[in-house]
Amino acid sequence: MANAWSNWSGFVTASPKRIATPADVGELAELVRSAPGPLRVAGAGHSFTPLVQSEGTIVSLEKIEGLVSHDAANSRARVRAGTRLGALMHILQDIGQGLPNMGDIDKQAIGGALGTATHGSGPTLGAYHTQLEAVQLVDGQGKLREYTRAGNQDMIHATGVALGAFGVLAEVTMNNIATYRLRRRKWVLPVGDMLKSFETMMAAHRSAEFYYIPFADYVQFIASDLSDAAPTTRPTEDDEEGLATLRKLRSALRWLPSLRRALIRGAVRKVPAEDYVQDWLNVYASDRRTKFNEMEYHLPYEEGPNALAEIIALTEKHFPEVYFPMEVRSVAPDEFWLSPFYKRLTCSIAIHHDAANDPLPFMRAAEPIFRKYGGRPHWGKMHSLKAADFKKLYPRWDDALAVRRDIDPDNRFVSPYMAGLFGIQPGPSGIQR
Ligand SMILES: Cc1cc2nc3c(=O)[nH]c(=O)nc-3n(C[C@H](O)[C@H](O)[C@H](O)COP(=O)(O)OP(=O)(O)OC[C@H]3O[C@@H](n4cnc5c(N)ncnc54)[C@H](O)[C@@H]3O)c2cc1C
Repeated sequence: MANAWSNWSGFVTASPKRIATPADVGELAELVRSAPGPLRVAGAGHSFTPLVQSEGTIVSLEKIEGLVSHDAANSRARVRAGTRLGALMHILQDIGQGLPNMGDIDKQAIGGALGTATHGSGPTLGAYHTQLEAVQLVDGQGKLREYTRAGNQDMIHATGVALGAFGVLAEVTMNNIATYRLRRRKWVLPVGDMLKSFETMMAAHRSAEFYYIPFADYVQFIASDLSDAAPTTRPTEDDEEGLATLRKLRSALRWLPSLRRALIRGAVRKVPAEDYVQDWLNVYASDRRTKFNEMEYHLPYEEGPNALAEIIALTEKHFPEVYFPMEVRSVAPDEFWLSPFYKRLTCSIAIHHDAANDPLPFMRAAEPIFRKYGGRPHWGKMHSLKAADFKKLYPRWDDALAVRRDIDPDNRFVSPYMAGLFGIQPGPSGIQR
């Protein structure tokens, strides 16, 4: 097929009339004005929901990337929105700046990471969008707009997490911090102990997270704290080998849960602790080679342990095929209208399912548990919510939709999937003007 597009996991596919890679903002604006609609902008295609799917035009900003300018005194940098996080880390390090926090991988484009409220972990650390100082975007009529925190903070809060539906971000100015070094430690502990001391353990570090390994009764806890010590060697990653072992045990012992549990538990307890110091850009990201699909819900912080206990019980009772660890993180509250962390200290719980198999029965069974605890879904990860649900979860929902209408009066960025999220009509699919 000429114009085949798919996301990272292969779960979402599209055959748009056109896949375009504009070379600069002028070409981007022209595409917004004239390419077949709906027009969806792609980052690196690492979302699990059909946010980028379009039968009209998919626009990739891979050529609109790199540093525009920087301000050393305020640790600010203006970059083009197609810049991948991996490249961004090196750009920033070279000018003495660092991202205050990062998620698990560095493959996303900064525009894509902002679009879905991508986050790392740490109770005082916000998601990437909280670093925004200014945005330059192309609106639904192909006009350039620029908003700054100093000039119009509301518009930063409205457009900072915007799912590619409030214009196409062309350039963003981020508030960074001076480069820094982290001491990262990993160790395993019984899940019961972790759940009992969840709040103290998560708050005791600048950044902490943990993985529950299904059928192990143990978690792997990861803590990162600022350090002035000399760098030491980062141990070779063994996540993929660990996953391969868990998958083999799943396949061989799926119907022998006690033996599976005993073997996994024995192996996990022997996992050696890790302790190293490295520059920030060498710490956060890992390689994810085994493809999966994922659901992540952002819950009120204090609900994390109870929700996780229910998710573990569900998985181990009804979904023996699951072997991917569950990831638990915390995220600081913020003021962005469509941020799942809006005014709420958050515990995020992520569940994963091998991309080779249908993830939906597991996700459908888990979702009511997350929702019962007041969870808001990660915009880029599997969920089944629609406009009426979001209206209840987001106090500024109507305000955000009013801004969206102003930026995109002709619904140029509204595919059928986006129409369901926003409760509006999809945009016309022909050439616009
Ligand atoms: C292996 C893996 C690990 C992950 N780890 C994490 C993690 O640790 N933390 C976390 O929070 N998430 C994580 N995610 C999810 C991922 O960070 C988000 O889905 C993110 O949005 C993907 O970025 P992307 O560049 O691939 O964007 P895409 O998925 O391509 O697009 C995401 C959204 O952003 C919009 N968009 C993209 N570029 C622009 C632009 N220039 N202007 C306006 N809108 C734009 C798109 O239209 C779409 O709505 C992970 C995903 C995978 C596959």
